[in-house]
Amino acid sequence: MILAGIYIHIPFCKKACFYCDFHFDVSFKHKDAVLSSLQKEITSRANFFNPDDVIESIYFGGGTPSVLNKHELSTILNALHTQYTIAPNVEITFECNPDDLSSSYLADLKLLGVNRLSIGVQSFNNDHLKWMNRSHDSAQSLQCVDMAASVGFTDITIDLIYGIPSLGLHEWQETVERALELPINHLSAYGLTLEPNTPYQRLVDQKKYHSPQDEKTSDHFEALVAIINAKGWEHYEVSNFCKTGNYSRHNTAYWQNKKYLGLGPSAHSFTGTERHWNVSNNAEYNLKIAAVEQAFESEFLSVEDRINEYVLTGLRTKWGVNLEELNHKYGHPIVSLFANELNEWESQGWITISQGQLTLTSSGLLFADYIASELFKLKDEF
Ligand code: SF4
Repeated sequence: MILAGIYIHIPFCKKACFYCDFHFDVSFKHKDAVLSSLQKEITSRANFFNPDDVIESIYFGGGTPSVLNKHELSTILNALHTQYTIAPNVEITFECNPDDLSSSYLADLKLLGVNRLSIGVQSFNNDHLKWMNRSHDSAQSLQCVDMAASVGFTDITIDLIYGIPSLGLHEWQETVERALELPINHLSAYGLTLEPNTPYQRLVDQKKYHSPQDEKTSDHFEALVAIINAKGWEHYEVSNFCKTGNYSRHNTAYWQNKKYLGLGPSAHSFTGTERHWNVSNNAEYNLKIAAVEQAFESEFLSVEDRINEYVLTGLRTKWGVNLEELNHKYGHPIVSLFANELNEWESQGWITISQGQLTLTSSGLLFADYIASELFKLKDEF
């Protein structure tokens, strides 16, 4: 039996947050058609899994899943339960925006089996929320987290964004402190980034907005980690923090390179040796599904690709990379190939190697991508 996950992409948002490069549409004109195609895809992709694979996590992401009404969500969940073997204790995470949540909607989510909420709070500063073109204000965020707890949700995570050019260090520290006082057991915090082809990029090009500054982003990250540690929370992945042991099962499975199936426009899947990605266009997705054509492209991962993924995802987590397993699985002896680099990073306080496990320190996490990219440079003798 293999434990696996399913990701469902709901590609609609009420407003376009200016920094966002995910696939979504602010027009809902294709919504019914996409949901109908999704039903068909749920059935047609059932052979992605082996008969004894069991789904231990389902993740509704987007876009904005909370634009779904109770009936639409129920239809999707029923189809999943019909086509796949779902574990009795499955984690079902549902991303939502604060302005979509009411007590009755939250109660419906709970009744339908959603047991983990991921709420896009991003900031408690209304000027920053407006600046990012978010669809809600701070009061709605605070209110909906309390409502979710009152309805009985015990697994609640919120997203925050740091590194906003006009966000001062002190205000960011207050934001984190305030977040940790809410009835949540998990926090995801991301540095603002300037992604190509976003409204943010265009505004920066027109000199109307400032781009994020690396130094500010690093200062915010360090302050965040200091508060997290002081409060006794766990920092278990570069951008993810929780009260002891309350990891996201779904995302942890990604980082452990487990198998997952992505359904809906732009969703990605991973078989262990192949990646699939669905077409990132709602109309095209509908056409392909209606024509019973494959709605995804795929890529076979070479051994080198798999080593790179294994190292990058492992390094970003508190569990690090198991060097023996890496050597055993892929014949990649990091310690002997990269002795000089490892010694240097260890003396800089970026990494530790203990009992065959290579992990990044808090300061090393800032350099996770750099360290991984150095380790990707496979030596000639490999
Ligand atoms: S709600 Fe989420 S997916 Fe939609 S535009 Fe904003 S950040 Fe992007």
